[in-house]
Amino acid sequence: MSSSLLLTLVFAVALVAGLLVKFWLASRQIRHVARHRDSVPVAFAKTVTLAAHQKAADYTVTKARFGLLELAFGAAVLLGWTLLGGLHALNQALLSWLGGGMLQQLALLAAFALIGGLIDLPGALYQTFVIEQRYGFNKMTLGLWLADLAKSALVGAVIGLPIVALILWLMGALPSSPWWTSWWLVAWAVWMGFNLLLLVIYPTFIAPLFNKFKPLEDETLRNRVTTLMQRCGFAAKGLFVMDGSKRSAHANAYFTGFGAAKRVVFYDTLLSKLSPGEVDAVLAHELGHFKHKHIIKRIAGMFALSLAGFALLGWLSTRVWFYTGLGVSPNMAAPNDALALLLFVLAAPVFSIFVSPLFAQLSRKHEFEADAYAVAQTSGQDLSAALLKLYEDNASTLTPDPLFVKFYYSHPPASERLARMITGASA
Ligand SMILES: [Zn+2]
Repeated sequence: MSSSLLLTLVFAVALVAGLLVKFWLASRQIRHVARHRDSVPVAFAKTVTLAAHQKAADYTVTKARFGLLELAFGAAVLLGWTLLGGLHALNQALLSWLGGGMLQQLALLAAFALIGGLIDLPGALYQTFVIEQRYGFNKMTLGLWLADLAKSALVGAVIGLPIVALILWLMGALPSSPWWTSWWLVAWAVWMGFNLLLLVIYPTFIAPLFNKFKPLEDETLRNRVTTLMQRCGFAAKGLFVMDGSKRSAHANAYFTGFGAAKRVVFYDTLLSKLSPGEVDAVLAHELGHFKHKHIIKRIAGMFALSLAGFALLGWLSTRVWFYTGLGVSPNMAAPNDALALLLFVLAAPVFSIFVSPLFAQLSRKHEFEADAYAVAQTSGQDLSAALLKLYEDNASTLTPDPLFVKFYYSHPPASERLARMITGASA
């Protein structure tokens, strides 16, 4: 069997196997949540009303059903791009129009992003204006939604095109081996530097394009939060309130930046729902992520994974079967680097899905550690109360399917987190 046919087969088998696993998990989740819809779990009987519990169940089931549709649709689109020849046709059309050069390669990436974005548009609209709307979460008008879309496309083009052009140039200018002078090693370093830069400029330059950030004015809360941060050994450049209510009723808080430039951002929706003690507990949880070096570990992990990814791409991009096996005949008279990038980005998730439970597991472990830190620094009672409000507010189900949780959940379900806090406090 040729390498090309072998890749086609392996790709198709992985795609179908992944789909079967995801469909099976989603149907388990839907059945499990529906089965527990009629009664609030005993542990929450005093704190959660039946109406809230049922709303969470219905919201979860609605999202899971829609997720199934999107899954099937996404697989069809992926097949369309690859084995059915969509990417090949797009590449050929641009080659005959622009000839083969940097311009054609950039046009291919831009056209792919544009078409992909348009294909995903109806689903995104449905999610916001039908599902989120029905459960009372959506606060966006169509005008704001469209303005967001235009802004993110523009920001994506302004930031994305130069970095992609640089990587394409490196791919053309440097060899793929030996590794110490290879394009993929240099491109990896460039890509990592770009990601770090993005982490620094995002809070100050990009996020304000979408939201307003005001300094936290409530003096009592400001003093409380500052005291907590000093006690935990943190310095922050500022405490900000973000107008999250402009788009959604979902509440959140986060911590961004590096070194002395760290800033704390509270959604206005969070401050309106939590008591000062509960805000403290949520912030202490975020500080816990820093204390346990979760952020640094995550970044280091991303560095290592991308290095492996770039090395693999460096090798694959020189094999003809990598292109032909995924439905594209490379044009040997022109550089195929943009094609290689696209095929890699399309095919990688088909295989990486099988390791994603490991990352979810690690993430849940980090959440438990951050919770334990928050309990030690503030009050377990405040943290449980805050989490319960947030789970209820986001209509997260209290009765997810345990296997679905293992596979997908980056945050442990409320029942596990609260139970852990109670046993943690008494131990
Ligand atoms: Zn967390």
